[in-house]
Amino acid sequence: MIRFTPEQEEFRRTVARFVDAEVVPAAQAIDERGEFPVALFRRLGALGYLGLRYPEAYGGAGADMVTYCLFAEELARGSLSLAAAAGMQSLMGTHFIYKYGSEALRARYLVPALRGDLVATFALTEPNAGSDVANITTRAERRGPSWVLRGAKTWVTSAPVADLLTVAAKTSPERGMKNIALFLLDRAGMRGIALGKKIDKMSVRASETGEILLDEVEVPPEHLLGGETGGVEKIGTILAEIRVMTAALSIGLARAAYQAALEYARQRVAFGKPIVEHQAITFKLADMLTALYAATLMTYQAAAGIDAGRAVTREAAMTKLFASEMAVRVTDEAARIFASYGLAMEYPAQRYFRDARFLLPGGGTSEILRIIIGRDLDWDRGGAFP
Ligand SMILES: Cc1cc2nc3c(=O)[nH]c(=O)nc-3n(C[C@H](O)[C@H](O)[C@H](O)COP(=O)(O)OP(=O)(O)OC[C@H]3O[C@@H](n4cnc5c(N)ncnc54)[C@H](O)[C@@H]3O)c2cc1C
Repeated sequence: MIRFTPEQEEFRRTVARFVDAEVVPAAQAIDERGEFPVALFRRLGALGYLGLRYPEAYGGAGADMVTYCLFAEELARGSLSLAAAAGMQSLMGTHFIYKYGSEALRARYLVPALRGDLVATFALTEPNAGSDVANITTRAERRGPSWVLRGAKTWVTSAPVADLLTVAAKTSPERGMKNIALFLLDRAGMRGIALGKKIDKMSVRASETGEILLDEVEVPPEHLLGGETGGVEKIGTILAEIRVMTAALSIGLARAAYQAALEYARQRVAFGKPIVEHQAITFKLADMLTALYAATLMTYQAAAGIDAGRAVTREAAMTKLFASEMAVRVTDEAARIFASYGLAMEYPAQRYFRDARFLLPGGGTSEILRIIIGRDLDWDRGGAFP
């Protein structure tokens, strides 16, 4: 059973008020323009939301994962684009700076990024390496005390606007995961970092995505985050949070779609009565609500597991798998309830339907998640049943 503390309930109400007042009215326009919403992103920083998971000493709030998920869920209800960019920054883009950076690096980059003054992202995926992380070819070679990075990253969230990039690169030529390290790149302060193609996509359009080209980028030694090897293991330590956060985004988006479909079904009349009174439509809404309820329970159960220090690898994978697939189904059903108007750009159903697709690859595809879940199929093992 989910039991939020009074502080968490109050926090949710505060975020919800902000989302209703500032995000919902802007969501359609930023999607149409396909532009990163700089002003709204800065507001997230100013309100302290980008620093939720970081200590107060760096301007953060020291919040638990349940609280973070409340933020992610409410923000996604308003704009999945904005929530995707905020999620990437606050769980990945600044995480490794905090975890492995020196105090000087934290003061220079982490503090302004948590305020929303710098946009931070994470670049692992390459044209020939998505799920298959070991296949990345971006190279980091020593040159004196420094490192020189060469390669190309793609599908980088916020690439056109990012100030800071945590980049995964191989520190020795052998293929394999062992030799991957993480480097902090400063876009303005280092030469050789260029934006490649901006990816024109149908989902989360206001979370801009693109290629980053690295041409002989000289990186000072203190920008190597956490040693020459073990990058994949370091990413692994934050993956459960990424997956549970993606589940929270899924329930936020699905709630918005459900609510819009319900309101539409109450006012749209066909064959002499509101369509909500036709059992076929009621059943759709009943199934949507049931799936949403189950995903919500899973999400906050997994988040509470993270807060309790429980191993949640399998639980987080199950939660993200179920919640993202749920969001795809619920947004699809919502668009069906809108029928023709589900295709019309002036109604939000089409945006929810398109945005839900982002939730499938983000945080690991459904196939990869099933591989993780399937590693231990005993009913009572794998940390899922506390
Ligand atoms: C909007 C958006 C933002 C993103 N932001 C970032 C970012 O900021 N930083 C970043 O590094 N990446 C980012 N990504 C990339 C994302 O993490 C990858 O797309 C994802 O890891 C999948 O990789 P891929 O698309 O190359 O698919 P592939 O790995 O090529 O997979 C293709 C298909 O094969 C399946 N498959 C692969 N391997 C197996 C297997 N062993 N068994 C069964 N099936 C398999 C997959 O499930 C999928 O269906 C983003 C993606 C999107 C859509």
